[in-house]
Amino acid sequence: MIVMKFGGTSVGDARSIRAAVGIVRSRLERRPVVVVSAMAGVTDALIAAWERASRGRGAGGSIAARHLAAARDLGLPLQDVRGEARGMEAALAAVRGRRGSSAADRDRIVSFGERLSAHLVAGALHSAGVEAAAAPAGDAGLVTDAAFGEAEPLPEAYPALRRGLRRRPGVPVVTGFIGRTRDGRPTTLGRGGSDYTAAILAAALGAEEVEIWTDVSGVMSADPRVAPEARTIERLSFAEAAELAYFGAKVLHPKTLLPAMAAEIPVRVLNTGDPAHPGTLITRAATRSRGVVKAIASKKHIIVVDVVSTRMLLAHGFLARLFQVVADRGVVVDLVSTSEVSVSMTVDRGDRLREAVREIRRFAQVRINRDRAVVCVVGEGLGQVPGLAGKVFSTLGREGINVEMISQGASKLNISFVVRGDQADGAVRALHRRFFRARAGGLFGAGRLTAPRTPAEPRDRAARDVCAGAPR
Ligand code: ASP
Ligand code: MG
Repeated sequence: MIVMKFGGTSVGDARSIRAAVGIVRSRLERRPVVVVSAMAGVTDALIAAWERASRGRGAGGSIAARHLAAARDLGLPLQDVRGEARGMEAALAAVRGRRGSSAADRDRIVSFGERLSAHLVAGALHSAGVEAAAAPAGDAGLVTDAAFGEAEPLPEAYPALRRGLRRRPGVPVVTGFIGRTRDGRPTTLGRGGSDYTAAILAAALGAEEVEIWTDVSGVMSADPRVAPEARTIERLSFAEAAELAYFGAKVLHPKTLLPAMAAEIPVRVLNTGDPAHPGTLITRAATRSRGVVKAIASKKHIIVVDVVSTRMLLAHGFLARLFQVVADRGVVVDLVSTSEVSVSMTVDRGDRLREAVREIRRFAQVRINRDRAVVCVVGEGLGQVPGLAGKVFSTLGREGINVEMISQGASKLNISFVVRGDQADGAVRALHRRFFRARAGGLFGAGRLTAPRTPAEPRDRAARDVCAGAPR
């Protein structure tokens, strides 16, 4: 049994849906459960429609028309799409009629994106001779808490999904991204949450593998817009993939990996437009075939907070106090580096910072540096290679790029550092050249790379997000 998840561009029009159907048919003997995202752009359009409705204006606009056009292109009967579209319009009308609106309303409206695409994909499978039916994840057993917009599955969801999906004949086409509360209200799992759904289903069903079908050929060694010679990485460990996901590569939501990681189910990232390409295989085991560096990622718009206090000298409890303030204000810290009298930390959202800083200023000096970037060199085992950090920093030095902060975690699978935001692309380019081109197959060069067979230029935002280093 495998779980096959198709992202927004993979179900973005009739042509892509036909390609997806062909891919599912090629794997029928592996008993696929299919998970779908909304058509590319539809979730954004639904959120916009909800916002308009909560100000008393507008309707679903072109959303229904787009799905009807795809259904016609695919030669499908229109009643399922029409039924969902009516549901969507009714939900919008209810919001319009009331004053104000809630996150629960938003999730209800947004859930129609995946409900609509599941009908298109199930219909297309059916008309290609494959027994298939759309299955809203909530109906199939995906019960969540009531944290609308970032809901988490409840423990009972796993056995419920097992019961709910095992009984279904043919190929279930499950809605990604959405679940529902115990009392039946639709929830969403957070943006990009369809991958999460796929991993949850795989863990629930004890799948052999999760296939993430997208529109680039796997995880790249860098963002190809920044480093044009970037290549697909053949294999990654879960830890490396999580690190990359966190530091900019949106190929998989970091949270996405957790259920698959816990159940040790391999995840493959594949290209709907080039199904023969091997893509990237993510497993528990680290591979160090030829090169230790797997990828260079970066995350821009980072804020560095420098905290200086002479009182920290030989004192205890300073860090505890500092991080207590940070935790109390809900500020998420990524990198931390300390010296005897100072602490630097990076945060990627400034909205909660102001209050925390006001508080910290009561016991230390604070300096804020905006528009910084974290650049991250990722590879399992790179902490054990003598001279590697030297290569990283001498490469940057030659480019005239100043490093403002350095952090190498205990897991030793990344070296992360902070540079000025406008120097991040230059840093990624120079490091990619240093580790991937100059010494292919050498001690530091990553050997196991696959040249892309399709142009590296991603088609749209969803595709760009897949590349290492894409801004979040
Ligand atoms: N449609 C949802 C989103 O755009 C979930 C997904 O595509 O994974 O965030
Ligand atoms: Mg996605």
